[in-house]
Amino acid sequence: MAKKPANPKNWKPATLGIHGLDRVHHAHFAVSTPIVHTSNYYFNNTQEVYDFMKAKSEGRVIREHEYGRYGNPTQEECERKLAAVEGAERAVLFSSGMSAVILTLMTFMRRDGHIIFTSDCYRQTRDFAANLLAEFGIQVSMVDPTAEAIEKAIRPNTNIIFTESPTNPYLRCLDLEAVVKVAKQHKVMTIIDSTLATSYNLKPLEMGVDVVIHSATKYLGGHNDLLAGVSLGSDKLMNDIYRMQRMIGATPGPLTCFLLERGLKTFGLRMKHHNEAGLAVAAMLEAHPKIEKVWYPGLDSHPDRAIAKAQMKGFGSVVTFLLKGDDAKTRKFIDALELFLITPSLGGSESLVTQMWMMSFFDYPADYRKKIGMSDNLVRLALGLEDVDDLLADLKQALEKI
Ligand SMILES: *Cc1c(COP(=O)(O)O)cnc(C)c1O
Repeated sequence: MAKKPANPKNWKPATLGIHGLDRVHHAHFAVSTPIVHTSNYYFNNTQEVYDFMKAKSEGRVIREHEYGRYGNPTQEECERKLAAVEGAERAVLFSSGMSAVILTLMTFMRRDGHIIFTSDCYRQTRDFAANLLAEFGIQVSMVDPTAEAIEKAIRPNTNIIFTESPTNPYLRCLDLEAVVKVAKQHKVMTIIDSTLATSYNLKPLEMGVDVVIHSATKYLGGHNDLLAGVSLGSDKLMNDIYRMQRMIGATPGPLTCFLLERGLKTFGLRMKHHNEAGLAVAAMLEAHPKIEKVWYPGLDSHPDRAIAKAQMKGFGSVVTFLLKGDDAKTRKFIDALELFLITPSLGGSESLVTQMWMMSFFDYPADYRKKIGMSDNLVRLALGLEDVDDLLADLKQALEKI
C-alpha cells in the first residue's frame, strides 16, 4: 500500500492534481492509474451473485464494480482527484461538459418550477434553457450576470439559479457571495458552470455555491484531445446526480478518464502559464492602436474588475476584443495569424481563435446577433501553452497586415 500523507487537505491544487487526497494501490505497484477498459465485471459463481444482490438490496456494498455505466476504476480515481482539486466531497464525471450541465439540471429541476440563467452563457446551455425547458413545463428567466438582476428575477417557484463566471465571451464576473446570499434567503439552489474560471482560479464551493460544473474538455483536460464534463459538490447532491447518471449514462470512457487524470498532473503548472499569457496578451492588445476594446477581468478597464480581483486567483487565457474594422478586416487579421488555430474551445495546449458571430452564432438572425453583442469584429482568443513572446509576436504581425 502506498504511503498515506497526514494532511493532504492542506495541499494546493497543483499538488492535489498529482496526488489527490488518498493514494490507491494499483496492480503491479504502478505509479500511474491503470486504464481498466471493460464494460462489465464478472462473478465467480452464482453464490457471489446472490450475496452481492442481497447486500445491495440491504444497502450494503460488498464489492465495488458490476457494470460499466455504474462505475469504472479509472473513472473513479479521476473523480477523486477532480474532487480533491476543487475541494468538493465528490465529483461525478460525464462524457462532455454539456451532459454534465443538462443531467445536473435534470436532476434538480421540477415541473412548474422556475430556473434563472445568467445571459452571455455557453451557446448550448442558452439553447437548452430557451428552447427545451419549456417542453418540460419549466419556466426560465435569462438575466444580466449580476446578483441584483438575479434577485429581481426570483419568483415564488424559483428553485435553481444557474450561472457562469466568468461568462463567455465577455468574461463578466458575478459576485458569488452576493448571489449565494440571495439564493439562501429564498431557499434556492445555486449551480455554477465554472469552466472558464477553473478549480485553480476560483473556489465557488467555499463561497457557498451548491454545485460546480466544468467542461473538463477545456482547462482540466488541457490538451485539446478529449471531451468530458464534471459536476462537483456534497456527497448528497452528487448522489442524486449519480442516480440519474446510472440510468442515462453519458459516462466518459476509461481512456478519456486516464487522459483527463494525466492532464490534472500538469494542471497547476498550466494554469500559471494561462494566467500569465492572458494578462500579457490582454495588456498588449489594449494598448494597440488597431484594437477598439478588450475584455479581460485582469485589466482595470473590465466592468467586473473589482469582483474578479476579490474572488479569483488569476483570470485564465480567454481574451475577447473588438478589432477596429469590419468583417473583412477581422477575417484578414484572423487568417494572417500563424500560431492560432481557427476553432472553438479553450484551455488546451494549442492557441485558438474564433470570430464569434461566424463560429458560434451563424444561424442567429443578424439583428439578434447585434442585440447580444456578437458584432462582426468580435474576436475571442483562447491562449495555449506556447511561449508568451511567440504569442505576442504572432498577434502583432497579424495586426500589422491589416
Ligand atoms: C465548452 C463549454 C461547455 C460545454 O462543454 P463540452 O465539453 O464541449 O460539452 C459548457 N460550458 C462552458 C462554459 C464551456 O466553455
